[in-house]
Amino acid sequence: MNILVANLGSTSLKFRLFRFDGAGAAALLAKGGYERVTDYGKAIDDCLAELKTAGHVRSAADLHGVGFKTVLGKNLTGCVRADTDGRVIAALDGFKEIAPAHNPPYALGIARFHEKLPGVPLVALFETAFYQWVPEAASRYAVPQAWHDAGVRRYGFHGASHKFVAERSAELLGRDDIAERVRALYQSGPTPVQAGVKPLRVISCHLGGSSSVTGIRDGVAIGTSMGLSPQSGLPQNNRVGDLDSAAVPFVMKTLNLSLAEVERQMTKESGLLGLSGVGNDLRDVRAAAQQGNARAQLALDVFVQSTRHWIGAFLLELGGCDALVFTAGIGENNPDLRAAICADLSELGFVIDAAKNAALRGAEGEISAAGSCVKIFVVPTNEELVIARETLRCIAGRN
Ligand code: AMP
Repeated sequence: MNILVANLGSTSLKFRLFRFDGAGAAALLAKGGYERVTDYGKAIDDCLAELKTAGHVRSAADLHGVGFKTVLGKNLTGCVRADTDGRVIAALDGFKEIAPAHNPPYALGIARFHEKLPGVPLVALFETAFYQWVPEAASRYAVPQAWHDAGVRRYGFHGASHKFVAERSAELLGRDDIAERVRALYQSGPTPVQAGVKPLRVISCHLGGSSSVTGIRDGVAIGTSMGLSPQSGLPQNNRVGDLDSAAVPFVMKTLNLSLAEVERQMTKESGLLGLSGVGNDLRDVRAAAQQGNARAQLALDVFVQSTRHWIGAFLLELGGCDALVFTAGIGENNPDLRAAICADLSELGFVIDAAKNAALRGAEGEISAAGSCVKIFVVPTNEELVIARETLRCIAGRN
């Protein structure tokens, strides 16, 4: 079975093609992408032509499904067929105001895939899916009931990545029972855990262009740093992260900004970019900091402080931590930030092995010291594999 995973940006299409054997094992056959896309139809044609030339997919008939990492849907989450009715597009449209950078490209892209590949099953795996079982007290904002009814609540994002971490960290800790629970999550919901078995408490730090920290008990999320929109939680590359709601009316009045301009600045000129004034890529910010740029150093310090803040929150909520996991572009490749995030936590049981940490970039491994009560891992995320597996399961009608 060939499953294509399509990652749609406002002007980009990235893809990965997986082939699953009869036992469900996946092989990555191809990956690629196009920037500056103005016509998704053409990009899809180009993608299929590329896969044909490479000998992987002779025609659309050799494609058994396409999976999409959709972000946020109104009244819809989980893993959902996107080609059989208009539910997915309607749900994306319904919340396009909350995720303006993400929802419109997916709605458009899915429609074009449907036109170009009639008969090929399309599946949306919402980034919010991993948070379906978060307790209401952790997802509720203290807003008027009408706001809540309109959809103002914590949703959480990066669900595919944190799910991958939940499964992989359980495997690394020898907890195959929990890994299996994670694998079955979108099919069966949280299955009962064996009575008397020690709970597995994982704090997953997805630190990249977009960042979030998630607390996971026995493979199921109990809360996350992101809320209503991807403009929440940690400072993002150029998006604001957590902000007191009073700031918006305040800057509108005192800086004479329109609501549209405030929104633009919060989503394009904030985060690491706004703090540092240097750029939105951590490599540039770090290089500037190393050359003595104080704002760049402050941006790094705020990022570290915010990550620690959320780790602390989930340490308490989980009643302890068995594994702390770093993933995504920043988490996988920046030993110095990992060390700063874990600094001076030995009394809480987190001790990094400096040499192991310094040596590990872009690969999986343990970076905790021998005496550390909490295991500290780097796990390169694989969101596309999660999407491909769930797409396959959805097509097979097992959800
Ligand atoms: P992601 O959104 O997961 O692709 O992560 C993007 C972020 O990861 C950017 O801020 C990059 O600076 C950072 N990043 C990616 N690769 C590296 C690397 N090799 N070394 C340092 N930082 C990196």
